Amino acid sequence: MVRRLNAPYFGKRYIGSSETKILHDMDRETPKCKIDAIARKDIQMFEWLSIPLDMGYKGCAYCMADYKEGKLPK
Ligand SMILES: [Zn+2]
Repeated sequence: MVRRLNAPYFGKRYIGSSETKILHDMDRETPKCKIDAIARKDIQMFEWLSIPLDMGYKGCAYCMADYKEGKLPK
């Protein structure tokens, strides 16, 4: 899928749900990510990966499996 340019996404690369603390990569999104099921009030967008990982987000098993542990790979 491609990045969504409209609100509340604004073309940023990473989308997280503040409820589940799961982070998705819009450039690698799969249908299983169910981005559209994230409640708008829970949506948090990030351009840089280090910020959500510091906030306790973990990568989605489908589009960010390398970040499932919630850390940048060493
Ligand atoms: Zn995902």
